[in-house]
Amino acid sequence: MAGVPVGVHWSVLVIGVLIGMSLGGVIMPEAFPGQPTALYVLMATLTVVLFLGSLLAHELAHAVVAQRRGLPVRSITLWLFGGMAELEGEARTPRHELETAAAGPLTSLAFAVASFLVAVALPGPELLVVGLTWLAYMNVLLAVFNMLPGAPLDGGRVLHAVVWWKTKSRARADQIASTSGQVLGVALIVAGVGQIFFFGSSGGFWTMIIGWFLAGAARSERVASAAREGLGGVLVRHVMTSPPEVAPSWATVEDFVATTALHSRQAVFVVVDFEGRPVGYVSLDWMAALPYGARATTRVSTLARPVPPENVVAPDEEASVLFTKRALPGQVIALVSDEGRAVGIVTTADLTRAMRQAMLRQPV
Ligand SMILES: [Zn+2]
Repeated sequence: MAGVPVGVHWSVLVIGVLIGMSLGGVIMPEAFPGQPTALYVLMATLTVVLFLGSLLAHELAHAVVAQRRGLPVRSITLWLFGGMAELEGEARTPRHELETAAAGPLTSLAFAVASFLVAVALPGPELLVVGLTWLAYMNVLLAVFNMLPGAPLDGGRVLHAVVWWKTKSRARADQIASTSGQVLGVALIVAGVGQIFFFGSSGGFWTMIIGWFLAGAARSERVASAAREGLGGVLVRHVMTSPPEVAPSWATVEDFVATTALHSRQAVFVVVDFEGRPVGYVSLDWMAALPYGARATTRVSTLARPVPPENVVAPDEEASVLFTKRALPGQVIALVSDEGRAVGIVTTADLTRAMRQAMLRQPV
């Protein structure tokens, strides 16, 4: 949608069924008893579909605004706690960040107002009015919850943008937004416990789970930002495995295994053509998966997989750029190319080591 791949996590199905059961089995029959069961089921289903649509609209709003501000969006995934729009990299200015973050909750509010107005204007059927009113209520709740000021919630991004704008320091903003997220997470856990013990409400478990998730996510943001700080001044060339042992595309797998693969410290190899230009990469796993008898007749180029252009970097780029790359099969993060020649390769192991080293420079 809008050129962005949209995914649905299986947990959405669970939550959809749970909401549907509570709407069709409890909320709607209590509001308007005595209707045929099929009608409850139909109206509850319709409301759940509209609700999932409103979650999607919230995420699409983030995605569309981000894209208009020049920040590509990788994907949108709907899951247990709503949605997640995965952005490629980070906002360039506090203003862009603020606009992108606020777009979601504002869309939820708009959805709430629209559902409410339709519910008021609609002469019937009553069950649909109940559904729409519930939808309005849920979207208000969604907007308010998401505006709580802690990373990674939208409100945390807004807080981040404001601190960044006021202090001109992104690192300071990272710190405040993630600390606030951790505090908020713990507060929710405590509130959940309180709900259970003082009010006997099982909804407290839900609050606890959300709090636990939030605290964890805020903690990983804190670690990631500390690593980014520690990576300041570190370049791709400092992180990569270099010089890389390469696999000639024309060699047979048998030859390459005997001459290089068996003695190498690498688990993946850049495949090069006659002129030494990279044409892909190959991993030990893929060679091992080849039937033994086929090694002598199969060329390395047959097993090679291409490296997408977005996973090719230059040695003098900032190492932090590597953290924005999606890992390729075989744990490859990037191929390092200098004037068309493969000068290095970066795997997830290289990145993990770089991250640990970064944190040694910059304690969390
Ligand atoms: Zn949002």
